[in-house]
Amino acid sequence: MQQVSPGGAVPDSLVEVRGLVKRYGTKTAVDGLDLVVRAGTVTAVLGPNGAGKTTTVETCEGYRRPDAGTVRVLGLDPVADAARLRPRIGVMLQSGGVYSGARADEMLRHMARLHAHPLDVDTLIERLGLGSCGRTTYRRLSGGQQQRLALALAVVGRPELVFLDEPTAGLDPQARRSTWELVRELRADGVGTVLTTHFMDEAETLADDVVIIDAGRVIAQGSPEELCRGGAENTLRFTGRPALDLGSLLKALPDGTAAAELTPGVYRISGGIDPQLLATVAAWCAQHGVMADGISVERRTLEDVFLELTGKELRP
Ligand code: ATP
Repeated sequence: MQQVSPGGAVPDSLVEVRGLVKRYGTKTAVDGLDLVVRAGTVTAVLGPNGAGKTTTVETCEGYRRPDAGTVRVLGLDPVADAARLRPRIGVMLQSGGVYSGARADEMLRHMARLHAHPLDVDTLIERLGLGSCGRTTYRRLSGGQQQRLALALAVVGRPELVFLDEPTAGLDPQARRSTWELVRELRADGVGTVLTTHFMDEAETLADDVVIIDAGRVIAQGSPEELCRGGAENTLRFTGRPALDLGSLLKALPDGTAAAELTPGVYRISGGIDPQLLATVAAWCAQHGVMADGISVERRTLEDVFLELTGKELRP
């Protein structure tokens, strides 16, 4: 991941946030956050509930004013230069911002007319599987159809930068796949994407850069590979009763092995996983009357990294 340098601009950066602070009364929602999004890349912003993701993204979109720090989007101030910025960015809203009595196809065609070089509306409707609901009013669309329409509205104007908030929440597997394909095509066209998601596989599959935030601060950033490479390659996982004596378990294991209780009753052993270590863990469990459910050896995933860093499971 490209870092924000203390001096000049980062080449090709579409978003540059430096030292962003945002407070709601006495609550500091964002606490000195830096973020860079480059052209032709997907940046996934991950964090537990209340971490400050929406506040950060809404500040970039110009819906909130920073209390401190600077935010530049396409080189512009998102609040002061909103009129110049809006036609150049696409924003996928979770809900709202849409007149619920309008028909899906009318909304898309109207949005397309507001832009100089829009995508072909019929192709987009086809691509996102919205063909059957063109004449249906927004309020009568299913939740998944509303999601796909929101995505279509965000991209139809051929934006240079698009903000996607939970784009696949509530979608069936096929619609999820079409959404991923569309995001990949945007990237290939040089569009920058800021993706907030609670799906770790989505971030792992789509993101070039991942930014993990907690309590309003960036606690880790890098490509999915970089973040997952941080620890041992393989981990051993099992589920047992909560609060096992991990000190006792570690005494039975070779030096350099680490053990953690990720969430109550979910354990991860890392460092030098081999058949002997697997056998030792199983034997220790047997000696201590622990039924090790789902014992498995796995590659370290983004979800592991997230759990280690935040101690919280990433759930909507
Ligand atoms: P989630 O994953 O649940 O959507 P998030 O990471 O998007 O969370 P934010 O919505 O940015 O988090 O909220 C960050 C913090 O700021 C939370 O503690 C939240 O309660 C608080 N907050 C957000 N909006 C407001 C507001 N309008 N007024 C007061 N507090 C707010």
